[in-house]
Amino acid sequence: MRKTSMGKCLFCGQTFSKLSIKKHLDKCQARVGDLLAEDDKAAERYFCIAIQGYENPEYWIYVDMPSKSTLKVLDKFLRNIWLECCGHLSLFEINGETFSVLPDKEFGDRSMNIKLENILDTGMHFRYEYDFGSTTTLKLKIVAAFFGKKRRKKVKLLARNEQPDIKCSYCENTATGVCCVCVYDNDGWVCDDCEDKHECGEDMLLPVVNSPRVGICAYSGGGYDD
Ligand SMILES: [Zn+2]
Ligand SMILES: [Zn+2]
Ligand SMILES: [Zn+2]
Ligand SMILES: [Zn+2]
Repeated sequence: MRKTSMGKCLFCGQTFSKLSIKKHLDKCQARVGDLLAEDDKAAERYFCIAIQGYENPEYWIYVDMPSKSTLKVLDKFLRNIWLECCGHLSLFEINGETFSVLPDKEFGDRSMNIKLENILDTGMHFRYEYDFGSTTTLKLKIVAAFFGKKRRKKVKLLARNEQPDIKCSYCENTATGVCCVCVYDNDGWVCDDCEDKHECGEDMLLPVVNSPRVGICAYSGGGYDD
């Protein structure tokens, strides 16, 4: 049985299960202080977005973004925290429309230079793909809209899953590396002691990192810095 995915509220530092974190974020005192009334001159409208791996939902984050911010900004953030390995293409699929980082007008693609509030609203689900070869797919949902203080940072990370404990394929230890070939069969996880046991060789190993793209292509960790 899969263990409950746990994660941390980055406002107060407390740990919650994936199921209870949303409820907590709504009332976390450290966060509620940033809220403003709609008619306040200093107020900006935000979306709270829940994001998780499509095939590996144990990787999840919550972020706030101004509703006037663009898909391009969100794309950049996702690449930075979870995905970027070699500058692959990416897209959002929203309501049957494709918003691409490199739009192909012939296929009816639209650009990511579009404000969130023009295409998204509370309750809407959408999808994101990074790399159309070894694709990492994410599920996103606008879980809330609210008014808050303007801030300089466009995307604010609210909560993030804790690194899942993936076991070495050869012993009971926690894996620290994974083979970039065998990972597609969910195999080739190695701990520090078992690195040389894996038949594909140490050159094929990528570090185990807290991302739905762990082990894929050349992904070796994010550049996100809170
Ligand atoms: Zn909190
Ligand atoms: Zn790559
Ligand atoms: Zn081992
Ligand atoms: Zn291998």
